[in-house]
Amino acid sequence: MNTCEVRQSFLDFFVDRGHRRYDSAPLVPHGDPTLLFVNAGMVPFKDFFLGVETPPQPRAVSAQKCLRVSGKHNDLENVGPSLRHHTFFEMLGNFSFGDYFKAEAIEFAWQLVTDVWGLNPDHLFASVYEEDDDAYELWSKISTLPAERIVRGGKADNFWAMGDVGPCGPCSEIHIDRTPDLPQVAWQEGSSSGRYVEIWNLVFMQYESDASGQLRPLPNPSIDTGAGLERVSAILQGVDSNYDTDLFQPILMHAADLAGTTYGRDTAVDVSLRVVADHLRAVAFLLADGVIPSNEGRGYVLRRILRRAVRHGMHLGLQEPFLHQLLPTVSEVMGAYPELSAAEKASQGSIKTEEEKFLSTVTSAARHVQDAIETSRREGRRRLDGETVFRLYDTFGLPPEMLREIAEEEGFELDDEGFKRALDAQRQRSRRDTSRAQELSSSLRVVLSAKGELPIVSFVGYRDLELEGALVLRLARLEAKGDFTAVESLSAGEKGVLVTESTPFYPEGGGQVGDRGTADSQNSTVAILDTRKGGSGLIFHTIQVEEGEIGVGDSLRMRVDEDRRRRTESNHTATHLLHAALRQCFGDSVRQAGSLVHPDRLRFDFTHDRPLTEDDRRRVQDVMAKWVRRAVPMKIGERAYNEAVEAGAMALFGEKYGDRVRTVEIPGFSLELCGGCHVGNTGEIGGVRLLSERGVASGVRRIEAVTGWGADQLAYKERDLLRDVEGQLGVPIDGAAGEIAALQARLKEAEKETSKLRLQLLSSGEEGADEVEVEGVKVVSREVAAAPSGELRNMADVLRDKLGSGIVVLGARSRDRVNLVVSVSADLTSRVNAGALARRMGSLVGGNGGGRADFAQAGGKDPALLPGALTAVASAVEDELRAQRG
Ligand code: ATP
Ligand code: MG
Repeated sequence: MNTCEVRQSFLDFFVDRGHRRYDSAPLVPHGDPTLLFVNAGMVPFKDFFLGVETPPQPRAVSAQKCLRVSGKHNDLENVGPSLRHHTFFEMLGNFSFGDYFKAEAIEFAWQLVTDVWGLNPDHLFASVYEEDDDAYELWSKISTLPAERIVRGGKADNFWAMGDVGPCGPCSEIHIDRTPDLPQVAWQEGSSSGRYVEIWNLVFMQYESDASGQLRPLPNPSIDTGAGLERVSAILQGVDSNYDTDLFQPILMHAADLAGTTYGRDTAVDVSLRVVADHLRAVAFLLADGVIPSNEGRGYVLRRILRRAVRHGMHLGLQEPFLHQLLPTVSEVMGAYPELSAAEKASQGSIKTEEEKFLSTVTSAARHVQDAIETSRREGRRRLDGETVFRLYDTFGLPPEMLREIAEEEGFELDDEGFKRALDAQRQRSRRDTSRAQELSSSLRVVLSAKGELPIVSFVGYRDLELEGALVLRLARLEAKGDFTAVESLSAGEKGVLVTESTPFYPEGGGQVGDRGTADSQNSTVAILDTRKGGSGLIFHTIQVEEGEIGVGDSLRMRVDEDRRRRTESNHTATHLLHAALRQCFGDSVRQAGSLVHPDRLRFDFTHDRPLTEDDRRRVQDVMAKWVRRAVPMKIGERAYNEAVEAGAMALFGEKYGDRVRTVEIPGFSLELCGGCHVGNTGEIGGVRLLSERGVASGVRRIEAVTGWGADQLAYKERDLLRDVEGQLGVPIDGAAGEIAALQARLKEAEKETSKLRLQLLSSGEEGADEVEVEGVKVVSREVAAAPSGELRNMADVLRDKLGSGIVVLGARSRDRVNLVVSVSADLTSRVNAGALARRMGSLVGGNGGGRADFAQAGGKDPALLPGALTAVASAVEDELRAQRG
C-alpha cells in the first residue's frame, strides 16, 4: 500500500462507520494564540469536546497536519537520529463527541489494524492505564491478544489531559514489534529500545479536571484517537524506518543527489539527510499555511527549522542555497495537499531568500564569534559566558550547536547554564507579551461564567447598525487593579464589559477593528468603546457608563457609530480590491500576509520579492480605481466551503472555516472568504489613494492606503501644503519648481559672494594685530566668522602665504561646536607638526584633532572654550617646539 492508499483506507473505514470526514485544518490553530501549531488531530475539534459548540455529527474522522516543535510536544531535537519522529507529520484520527466510547473505539481499531491492514496479531501489544480495568477487560474480550501482551502503564504514558483543567482520561496505545523474529523481550525493554513502536493512541475522555486537580466524570464521555500515518506506512510497506517509505525516499534521494552522496551508507550523513527531508516538509507546509519567516512567534519557529536544515546541508558539504530546489519533490510526494503546489513558486522564493540570508549571516557571525573568543582569551578565560553566547545566538541567529563547533576548534567551551538562563528569560518575556490578550479574555470568561453557562451572541451588524431591545445578559466591572468582577449593575463613571443577547457591534476580527457607539436603557446612557470576540461565539463590549445605571436584564437600544463603520467598510472592500489588483498585476505568487482595516486607513501586507516602482503603484491604484468607478454591486452570502474554494475563493491562513462559509464577491474580480463588513456597491468607496509601500520582512511588503473620506482628507492636506508653498514663493503652484530653482541659483551666488568678502576682510585686517613671535617663528591666531571648513582652510592658507614663513591657527564657532584649522608653512613642518598642534588645540576645546604635518583640523563641543584656546596658541607652539627638540 502506498501512503495515499493507507491514508484513504483509514478515512474510508471510519466514513463507512458513520463518521463525518474533515479535511485537515491549517497548521496554525484558529483563535488560540497560546498554541503555536496544531500538534494533534483533536485540536480543530476542541470546541466540540468542550461542549461550547455542537458538532454537526457526533462522529468524525480526519488526517490532520501536525507539527511538534514547541511547547508540550517538542520532537525537534529527536529528528534526525530517530527513525520514527518527525517535526511535521500527519495524524490519522477518529473522534466521538459523546457518542460511542471505549468498546467501539477498541473494536474499530482492532478491526482496522488486523482485518483491513492485515497486521499479524502476534506482533501487537496494547497498553492500558493501570487503573483502567474496563479497558483491560475490553481488550481481552475484543482482541485475540494474550494476557502478557496487554500491559498496564502509569500516568506518564497512559493518562492524557487537554490542559491543567478540562477534559482528560486514560488512554490505550497499540504498539507493534518491529523485529518479531527475534526472541521476545520484556515490555519495558522492548519499548525503551524502540523495538516496540507505538502506532496508535486511543484516548478515553471520561473526566473533567478542575483547578484543584479533582476529577469529575463527564456526562458524555468522548473518544479522541491518533495514529501516525508515517509509522503505519512504514509498517505496511515492511520497512524499518519511516524514512524508507514512499513519503521520504524521493526527497532523500534528491537531497543526496545534490550533495553528491547516497542515503544509507554513513550514519552521520544519514542523520543530516533525514533532517533536511523532514524539515523541508515542515517548512513547505508552514509557508503554504501562510506563516512567514520572522524573528518572533510562529515565523521564528519556521526560520529556526529552515536554518537547522541549511546547517545540516552544510554538514553534507552544501555551501550554496539548495533547499528551495528540493521543494517540487516535496509537493509531488505530498500531492494529497494541493496547497503545496499552489504556494510552490512563492515558497521557493521565500526559502531561497532565507537560505541566502542565513549563509551570509553564518559567515559574518563567525567573525563575531572569533572576536568574542579573542576578547575572552585576552581576559584569560577559556569559556564563552552565557550572555555572550545568547547575544550571538539572538542577534545573528547563530545556532548554539554551530557556536559550539567554532568555539571547540579554538579550545573554548560554552557556558551552557548561563545560556539557558538567558534564553529562558527571553522566552518568558515573549510569552508574557503574546498571551496577555488571550489571558484577558479567558479570565473574563471565567468571571462571567460564574453566573452560568455563557451564551453564543447573535451578531446582526451586517444588516443593522441599530438594535432595539437587546437584552443585557452579563456585566463585569473593571477594577482598579485591572481585573474584572462580575456584577449585576454598573453606574455612571464605571468602566466594564457588557454581554448582550444579540448585537449590531462588529467584534474585532479578520483585520477589521471593532465597532464603537452607544447603548441606552431606560435608566442609562452607555458609551461602547470597543468590541471584541470573547471566544466560542461570545462578544464583549468594552463600555463606560455615562449616565444612570445599567443592569443585567435591561433592554438596550444599541447604536453603532455609523460614520466610523461606513468608513471602515469602505476600507475593507478596498482591501479586497487591493488584493485582487496586486494579483492581477504581479501574478498568483502574491498572497495576503496580514491586514488592518481601520476607519481612517487600511494596511495590507503581502508576499512579493521586490519593492513596487512608482509605475507599479500607479498600475495597482488604476486597477482599483477602475473597479470603484464601475460601481459593481457586491455579492455577499453563504455557501458550502468546497463550492467556494472551487469557485476560486481565497481562503486566508489562520482562519477556521466551517462547512458553510461567508463569501464576499466583487463579481468578475474578487472572491474571498471573509467575515467582515463591506459596502453594498464598490462605487460607495468613492476613491482610492495608495499612501506608501515598503518592506516589513523578507519577501513581505506593506501597502497603506486611504479611500473615500480618507482620500478627501488627504487631498485637503495636500492642497493646504501647496497653498502654503504658493504663499511662501509668491507664485502659482505651476511656477513653483522654476521659482525654487531660481532661488537656489541666487542663494549659491550669494554664498560665493560672502566667501569672497570674508577673505577680503581677512587680508585687509590690521597687519600684525594678532601676530606674535615664538622662538623666531611667526604665529597668527584669530577667531573668524563661522564658515564651511573648506573655506576656513582657504583663509588659513591665504594668511600663511602672506606671512611667508609661519603658523596660522583660525577658530570659528557655531551654537554647539568649535572648529579650528592649523596651517604650517613648509619650511617649519620639521619643527612644528600641524597635526600635533591640532591635537593640543582639540583638547583645549573639549574635543580632539589631527591631520597632516602642514595642515590639520581640530574640533570640540564647547564653543565657550574658543577664546581661551586661541590665547593659548603661542604657548602650545612653544611646547611643540620644545617637544620636537627634545
Ligand atoms: P512517542 O512516544 O512515540 O513520541 P507520543 O506518545 O508522543 O509518541 P501521541 O501524542 O500519542 O504520541 O500521538 C499519537 C500518534 O502520533 C503516535 O502514536 C504516533 O504514531 C504519532 N506520532 C507522535 N509523535 C510523532 C512524531 N514526532 N512523528 C511522527 N509521528 C508521531
Ligand atoms: Mg512524543
